[in-house]
Amino acid sequence: SGVLVAYQRVLLKLSGEEFGGGKLGVDPLVVAAIAKEIADVVRSGTQVAVVVGGGNYFRGAELSTNGMARDRADYMGMLGTVMNSIALQDFCEKEGIETRVQSAISMAQVAEPYIPRRAERHMEKGRLVIFGAGSGMPYFSTDTVAAQRALEIGAEVLLMGKRGADGVYNKDPNVHDDAVKFDSLTYDQFLAANLKVADATAISLARDNDLRMVFFNLSVPGNIARAVAGEPIGTILTR
Ligand code: UDP
Repeated sequence: SGVLVAYQRVLLKLSGEEFGGGKLGVDPLVVAAIAKEIADVVRSGTQVAVVVGGGNYFRGAELSTNGMARDRADYMGMLGTVMNSIALQDFCEKEGIETRVQSAISMAQVAEPYIPRRAERHMEKGRLVIFGAGSGMPYFSTDTVAAQRALEIGAEVLLMGKRGADGVYNKDPNVHDDAVKFDSLTYDQFLAANLKVADATAISLARDNDLRMVFFNLSVPGNIARAVAGEPIGTILTR
């Protein structure tokens, strides 16, 4: 519609792959730059919660095709998201933003437990909240967790920051030169086309609960602020 919406409370999903700059582990320069963008948004008054992926460490599905039991591999994946969460917390606090990590797997020395109402209280106080360890359950993705957390804490939108793609395409734009980007598409179109940008569980959860979802390119500097400002970047999913 072109109308700008300034959101009050957002759930930001950050691709783990971006944290590694395309490699294994955490690239401090990348995470510091993301932290700076998030800090600016938080300072402007928008309440922000983050779910970080773990694709820069382990993906359970990949490890399991190489011989590991899927559930154990998934726990490794979830632990990777905690490392990303701690890295992001550190850089956000260096930017002067109080930050709490809440983990779905209990590890009291590094993170609070996931307590949704406490998370909301943190945000009301201007703190950034980072949800780590996914759902704590194998066979899920951090995209699905991002949709669930967004719903539970009452975020107005789920902003899906992906690495290196300007939104949702009909096929992988990194592989196909003739890939076409959608400015918007319905949840059902997304599911019917079996697009791999997010998993079907995440999309159907958003669809069934009327959660607004926007896919944008996390690799473009300034895009976090643009997405939070409601600028028409990326791809928006509609009913
Ligand atoms: N994972 C899981 N349960 C969850 C969330 C994540 O088992 O609720 C595991 C799963 O193995 C996944 C890995 O953690 O592959 C990393 O998360 P994801 O692939 O969603 O990260 P991203 O692609 O966003 O970087």
